Amino acid sequence: MTPAITITEIQGRGRSLISTRQLKSGEIILKDSPILLYSASSFVSKTPHFFCSNCFKSINSQSPSLVSCQSCSSSGLSTLFCSPECYATAKQCFHSPWACEALRRFVSPVLSCYPDNVEVHLQVRFLVAALCLGIVSPEGFRVLMSLQGDGKDSDEARFIYSVIKDVRVPVEGFVVSLEIVVALLDKDKLNAFGLMEPFEEGKERAVRAYGIYPNASFFNHDCLPNACRFEYVDKNSGGDNTDMVIRMIHDVPSGREICLSYFPVNFKFGDRQKRLLEDYGFKCECDRCRVEANWSDDEEDGDGGGDNEGMEEEEEEKEEEWNDDEQMVEDGMAEEEGTDQNNDFPHAYFFVKYMCNRNGCGGTLAPLPPRSLSDSSSDLMECNVCGNLTKDS
Ligand SMILES: [Zn+2]
Ligand SMILES: [Zn+2]
Ligand SMILES: [Zn+2]
Ligand SMILES: [Zn+2]
Repeated sequence: MTPAITITEIQGRGRSLISTRQLKSGEIILKDSPILLYSASSFVSKTPHFFCSNCFKSINSQSPSLVSCQSCSSSGLSTLFCSPECYATAKQCFHSPWACEALRRFVSPVLSCYPDNVEVHLQVRFLVAALCLGIVSPEGFRVLMSLQGDGKDSDEARFIYSVIKDVRVPVEGFVVSLEIVVALLDKDKLNAFGLMEPFEEGKERAVRAYGIYPNASFFNHDCLPNACRFEYVDKNSGGDNTDMVIRMIHDVPSGREICLSYFPVNFKFGDRQKRLLEDYGFKCECDRCRVEANWSDDEEDGDGGGDNEGMEEEEEEKEEEWNDDEQMVEDGMAEEEGTDQNNDFPHAYFFVKYMCNRNGCGGTLAPLPPRSLSDSSSDLMECNVCGNLTKDS
């Protein structure tokens, strides 16, 4: 952790990150390296994924230095590396002979039991990476096990356990039990961050890889976050290209909880609530959700999904409300810096100032980092999805 934030237990929110002093917009409050990374490609990907399975940078299919793992290819898996150096590094860690064999053992059971269930394919990739971490870095594995998540027994977990239980982990006393598999899968579900493919206009952005970031996983969610994450997988040239950089969106006083949004900020109320409940197991009661829950309290609750038409209409109404809000902001109704808690639309200001307006982007803007803490914040805003730089208006 940097001195700017500290872990504190907040009642009802669990372990949380709090500012230890006044934080400046654009300030980098955390740079976190992953303890493990795994590819987000399915086992039956029809189009090969051209990124390196070690450094996760894009690779050109024509590149002469491209190497593919022959053992994987002969089992029908595509595991590519950008260079012999990356392949050599991977062999010491996440693509060790042990990991390669464990992964290959899954190919035929996965293809016969879960051919189309990409989620299971990714769970398999994660589990192999997690056990590999246990082999190469007991300390890293201990950190992984200390993260949130205990899980519930499931058919998928039993399936993965049934295959992996016969693969001996070369660590004395390390026995893979169903309980460990279940707990690990839940830790992945609750804590993994997706490293995204670069933004391309008009194209849906896919996840390239997933990573466990031990410090960043302490950030709680807020639908109006005060910090956001940047990643530079293809941009950074050093070994730190998979690091996650968390920057402040705006100024925050000391003692405030620092939150990220776990998905694009422009998700609608119903979608956000559903996603947070299904994927993270909690009901969001942030300021924005409390306001939006009242927008149409007669319709939002208790809809079992049978009345889709009504739902859509309702969403349209909300859309209009958003637009009205934005208009009022532009007319000068929310001139004050920061959000007013008693305001009926605290998020309208946020949307105008901190949402990327590029078509289909949905990214969040944060100022470039100030050169020093005594410096004033930059007036150049960077989008954390498309990378656009715009002048702060
Ligand atoms: Zn590489
Ligand atoms: Zn291999
Ligand atoms: Zn919320
Ligand atoms: Zn953008």
